[in-house]
Amino acid sequence: MSNHKSREIRLKRRPAGMPQEADFEVAEVNVPNPGTDEVLVRNAYMTVDPYMRGRMVDRKSYVPPFQIGEALQGGAIGQVVASNNAKFKPGDYVQSMNGWREWFVSKGNDIQPQPMIAGTHIYDYLGALGMPGMTAYAGLLRIGELKDGERVFVSAAAGAVGSIVCQIAKAKGCHVVGSVGSDAKAQWLESLGVKTINYKTCGDLNAAVAKAFPEGIDVYFENVGGAHLVAAINNMRPFGRIAACGMIEQYNATEPPPGPPNMIMTVGLSLKIQGFIVSNHYDLMPKFFEDMAKWIKEGKMKWKETIYDGVEKAPAAFIGLFKGENMGKALVRVGPDKAI
Ligand code: NDP
Repeated sequence: MSNHKSREIRLKRRPAGMPQEADFEVAEVNVPNPGTDEVLVRNAYMTVDPYMRGRMVDRKSYVPPFQIGEALQGGAIGQVVASNNAKFKPGDYVQSMNGWREWFVSKGNDIQPQPMIAGTHIYDYLGALGMPGMTAYAGLLRIGELKDGERVFVSAAAGAVGSIVCQIAKAKGCHVVGSVGSDAKAQWLESLGVKTINYKTCGDLNAAVAKAFPEGIDVYFENVGGAHLVAAINNMRPFGRIAACGMIEQYNATEPPPGPPNMIMTVGLSLKIQGFIVSNHYDLMPKFFEDMAKWIKEGKMKWKETIYDGVEKAPAAFIGLFKGENMGKALVRVGPDKAI
């Protein structure tokens, strides 16, 4: 046994509706010494993501459900502290799905070395330069088939995915309007040249979207669902595309939500609605990094993080996603940036 102890967050019970902190529990485990071919990793940051809510439900999906009494899983970046595996050496940064805990021992098959671009921070690879950034890129360009100069509407626009979608569209010379849930979020996006609608204070969302898009919407990047989807469909241009990335409004629903009453408009307007899962589009990764590097250099790509401190804050960070607490990527610092 090593002399390290690791705190981890376990699912105590399956949430009903909005998750509660009491649905989770903190446990402490002894960390074993790494055996033959094994690697000891200390996590520095872990991510909380809306899709994790789906894994808390006991149903078949594209990822298996979390088990009660077991540590949760999710993206994390950490540093190798000790290694008996030739592929990893102490000091290497590695990404894994072993988040929600401080330390872990790996056989080396569930960790990937994290190459770092100069000037970036390790947690960028859980946000703008990681899965959420890739989601924005693949969803907008491949699924949304965005063309330069088009009119783009984005929901949850100040979040991890949405804020990158807005800026990719801006970089392509588009008219971009993002929907956000606070004035502070609106202010941030406006500083990036993105027009905004605060859906909590705008009154009639449909009227606000119509006003923001007098000529209609070419691409709607859908993160929220419900009234946002209805308003978007009402204001789409003929041959518009809807990239269905997520529908966070219904992740805590206890009853099936009503479908959009205006789906018939998809026929007359010849709309395309396509859902996608980012992991099916990782072939775009090299092009994503090439384009991101260019946009960063041109000053066209900025991002923010909302960082919670301590693994015990992970449930609050996760719940905060559904309350709009995060601006940019929601992360949890679970250890020091440098473990050795
Ligand atoms: P965000 O960083 O955008 O965080 C969630 C945000 O959603 C909140 O900050 C809040 O912002 C908004 N929100 C929460 N509840 C509601 C609600 N009831 N109505 C309207 N807005 C709400 O999360 P991500 O960027 O990680 O994810 C954004 C979307 O992308 C999610 O739907 C997620 O499931 C999806 N996703 C899909 C992937 C895929 O492969 N298809 C991969 C990754 C993410 P506000 O204050 O503005 O309300």
